[in-house]
Amino acid sequence: MTPATLTRSQLAGLCKVGDVMIPGDADLPSFSAAGCAEHADRMIAHMNDADRQGVILLLGVFRFLPRIALRLLLRLTERHRAFPEPIAAVLRLLNVGVKGVVMTLYYSGLDQQGAILRAIKWDAKVVERPEDDTSPTGASTSSARTDQAPFALSLSKGADGAAPSKESAAERWSATESPAAAVQRAREGARSLRRLSVAERLQHVALLRHAVLRRREEIVDRIQRDTGKSRSDALISEIFGVLDNLAWLEAHAAKALAERKQHTPLALMGKKSWTWYEPLGTILIISPWNYPFYQAIVPIACAVAAGNTVAYKPSEWTPLEGLVESVLAEAQFAPNWVQVVYGDGAAGAALVEQRPDKIFFTGSTRTGRRILAQAAPHLIPVELELGGKDAMIVFDDVTLARAAAGAAWGALTTTGQSCTAVERCYVQRSIYEPFTEELVRQVRQLVQRTDQDGDADLGAMTTDFQVRIIAEQVADAKSKGARFLTGGDWDGASRMIPPMVIDHVSADMAVVSEETFGPLIPVIPFDSEAEVIRLANDSEYGLTASVWTKDLERATRVSRALAVGGVSINNVMATEANPALPFGGVKHSGFGRYKGEHGLHAFCNVKSVLVDTDSKKIEANWYPYTAEKYRLFTALTVNLFGERGLKRLVKFALAGLKLERYSQRAKR
Ligand code: NAD
Repeated sequence: MTPATLTRSQLAGLCKVGDVMIPGDADLPSFSAAGCAEHADRMIAHMNDADRQGVILLLGVFRFLPRIALRLLLRLTERHRAFPEPIAAVLRLLNVGVKGVVMTLYYSGLDQQGAILRAIKWDAKVVERPEDDTSPTGASTSSARTDQAPFALSLSKGADGAAPSKESAAERWSATESPAAAVQRAREGARSLRRLSVAERLQHVALLRHAVLRRREEIVDRIQRDTGKSRSDALISEIFGVLDNLAWLEAHAAKALAERKQHTPLALMGKKSWTWYEPLGTILIISPWNYPFYQAIVPIACAVAAGNTVAYKPSEWTPLEGLVESVLAEAQFAPNWVQVVYGDGAAGAALVEQRPDKIFFTGSTRTGRRILAQAAPHLIPVELELGGKDAMIVFDDVTLARAAAGAAWGALTTTGQSCTAVERCYVQRSIYEPFTEELVRQVRQLVQRTDQDGDADLGAMTTDFQVRIIAEQVADAKSKGARFLTGGDWDGASRMIPPMVIDHVSADMAVVSEETFGPLIPVIPFDSEAEVIRLANDSEYGLTASVWTKDLERATRVSRALAVGGVSINNVMATEANPALPFGGVKHSGFGRYKGEHGLHAFCNVKSVLVDTDSKKIEANWYPYTAEKYRLFTALTVNLFGERGLKRLVKFALAGLKLERYSQRAKR
């Protein structure tokens, strides 16, 4: 198939540059021999207009350029910062645009040749190493040097490419690479990443988006295999969620991270104030098992966009081994920008011991507390994204069918294993019966199975230990008189836990007071606004909540009264669906915010800068302190901060002038 958007000549240009970058060797075919170019149109179609036009123009020119000149040009792309615009822009486009297309096509072309794909993925022979590249082209070459693995850790996958067991993944970190070496490597990477502008970092984020989009089915397969969730859950929450966040970064991170002029007050007249958003260094990201791809890529991308390198530890239960490294390599992340360390809690604790510049932890409150305690003696800043017991509050003026559908999805998506799942559904008493009936009707229609094509609503639970927690909560609720309107016949052991709508529940039951993390929906009646606010806030957690009513004034009032980090009004789990909104909780749900502008700044050293001019002037607040200076400073202070008005302003100005004159005269 000939690419629709490329002419024959441009296609020849692409093959030419591809072969210069990837000439092939005994193990791997050259770019053109691999037949990769035939998918070029699909790849180029995903670019933004300006990049696409630029890349197509360059490919047309390459057709006529001698190979030696092309080689030289590719080498120059590494040094684009040394050139003035617009030459630098062309070299940049060549570096990330054309080279990105070549590398991505090569990976994707090889996708169809399983054996070679494994060679690429696990021995990672094709990789661009911007930091220490010494190849003649200055670009990634097809060199079979296995020492050029893009990600140093745990790539020793079996020769047959089969996924290792979870147990072996958990052991691997100590066998292959130590946390100390991983953090050290990431620290070294910080130097090269720091040299990139935000725009350049975001070009890698764009490549990452392309890689995830192109490989979405493969990624869904892996997520499904590791977690047991339904394909639609994986696609909607993880793939779409990741792409949405990456797209947000591409569109907004440059502005969020740009230095900002700040207001300079009257007393500092003549000076200028700025805030700069600088990288912190190396961030340790530790993630849970419920959204293994999303919880990897989104914090990594935010941290790297802000200029940090990362040591990343996935959960030992859903490591997606090799996958994160492989998509990052495809997005041309340098090897030491992100180091992946596999292992259990001990690996996490060993990473904390390396004193990263910040810890970004997502997981249980219990582990969060441990990490905080371990980080405290070293004063390592910690951000904690912890558990929840989210309330859904339904007033009696809602559209029943929609609110019930929201409750079903909010409680059951990812089989209830979401930190922001609806775990307490408070319904105003006048609609309690019809709402519960409608919820039961909808829940009974849900399809639960391990699906192949995305048509199951619910999948399985991911871990047996979580199944045991749910079995205990169900037994506790049953023993205290709860009524199970659906799912009451669950055997207490199967990972396919059926969704359970439960009523007649009371505050002393674990299903109401403790995090469940499974497909249970306790429904609880309430009478008044004040009562439901009290009930919803009567929890040690405070992650998110939702308020459902046509009366937006009431919704706003209730939302303000809830002690949580985010509220969706007439929707559910919706604040986290908007990448512009910061995400995080209060109370035992943690602290700190990520995503959106706030979240990017959380990965920054927000540096304050005040610029004054060099002169002979001595500042009024400097030495010497004298009784006269005290008197003048008092006059200045009173008139600056006292009652407003023209008279005060004039008095302030006069006091300022006198103080200024005095300070210059009094200098020693
Ligand atoms: P967990 O706390 O058991 O484990 C989370 C991660 O911490 C894992 O990678 C684990 O290996 C690591 N870990 C364990 N002990 C450690 C230690 N001492 N030092 C360093 N690392 C250590 O949590 P989980 O069971 O994987 O995940 C479920 C929990 O995560 C639930 O409570 C859920 O609400 C919460 N969660 C919160 C959010 C959020 O954004 N607020 C998102 C998803 C999940």
